[in-house]
Amino acid sequence: MTVFKSMNPLKKATRNDLANLCEALWGWKPCADWIEEQKYHKCLHQDPRCHHQRAERLQLFFDFYGEITAYYVPEFSSSLPPAFNSHGDLIAIIQYIKKNADKPRVQLTLEHFGISGQPRVSPSPSPSSDQNRAFDLAARVITTFECTIEGQADSQLEAGLHPAIWPSDRTFNQFVDSCIPKQSQLRVGPYNDIAQQPQLHLGSLTVKRLKRIAKLTIVRTDDLGSHLLLDRKNGTVAIYHHTSVLKEHLMMAQTQHHTPGPSTSQHSNLPKDLVQETMYTLKHVLFPVDPESRSLLQSLITKDKFDPDLRNDIDTSWQQHEAPMVYEHWGLRLMDLYDEIQTPTPRGYLERWMERKSGSRYVMMATLAGVLIAIMLGVLSLAVSIFQAWVGWQQWQHPVSS
Ligand SMILES: [Zn+2]
Repeated sequence: MTVFKSMNPLKKATRNDLANLCEALWGWKPCADWIEEQKYHKCLHQDPRCHHQRAERLQLFFDFYGEITAYYVPEFSSSLPPAFNSHGDLIAIIQYIKKNADKPRVQLTLEHFGISGQPRVSPSPSPSSDQNRAFDLAARVITTFECTIEGQADSQLEAGLHPAIWPSDRTFNQFVDSCIPKQSQLRVGPYNDIAQQPQLHLGSLTVKRLKRIAKLTIVRTDDLGSHLLLDRKNGTVAIYHHTSVLKEHLMMAQTQHHTPGPSTSQHSNLPKDLVQETMYTLKHVLFPVDPESRSLLQSLITKDKFDPDLRNDIDTSWQQHEAPMVYEHWGLRLMDLYDEIQTPTPRGYLERWMERKSGSRYVMMATLAGVLIAIMLGVLSLAVSIFQAWVGWQQWQHPVSS
């Protein structure tokens, strides 16, 4: 079996695979010219249904998809076939989850692999770990949330990840609602109504200030669940960047709203208010329109591969209401960042040393060191004056006669 371990069924995704992925996620497909990578694109400006530009804009998402599928290594067991053999199989799972977003995960897994899987000698009562990982991967592609089933999170937490948990008895819809829960549902603490925190609306939480005042390093993340996550120990803040993907999610939600009917079999990928709030934190809170923020954003796009769509100001199609926002989803993390700007954790070497050594014991030690240095200086100057006196005495004893 070790021979198979090195085999990854998901080799590099072709442009046809990516076109099918777009169709599964958002219900549109880039044209044949895009798929065949035609140098001279014929249907541009001619066919209104051509989604060439749209697909071009999603390049970083396709890179992300290629990356997470490339790292997928199936667990082969003797009795069960691998959960998928191609990108087509993974996309089929994505479609299946979206069509059955109101069925519990355990039922989905059993049904999907029971019907389309190859015949098994003895159907296992519980889905194998490989099938679970296949569903984790599919859910991650749909939502860009790092996803795992219950009982698997500990090992991932150790690896520094913060996976969202999709328990086996929950539906996909319940899972996406629970990823970044609304605070009004949680009813937690003093930050319940973030609208009452006026500071957040005064443009105090920009990336510019996070860097300059809180001395934080900006880390790009593909995991929506890590968005705005502050790591005080390492002095970093993670920022989710796939705004072109978020826009696609929103556009799909809007077309659904306008055309009810058979097309509603396509379920939205993420809750609309979560997507809008995330867009708002990126476009208004973190990167406002001022020269310094713009140039910071530009360097993040060119050096750290942030989604170039972030700097797109003209496109306001995602905006539904300009009205004051209540940060239902990201409020707690925004407040964390706000606190960090107000009282920054010491970062520099000297700052940290001073912070550590400011206890009374260290003050005593510093005083003692000062006294010792004073005594040493006294002894030295005594030696110098003794030597001078000796030189003077020698000169008096043996005067040089000229
Ligand atoms: Zn085209």
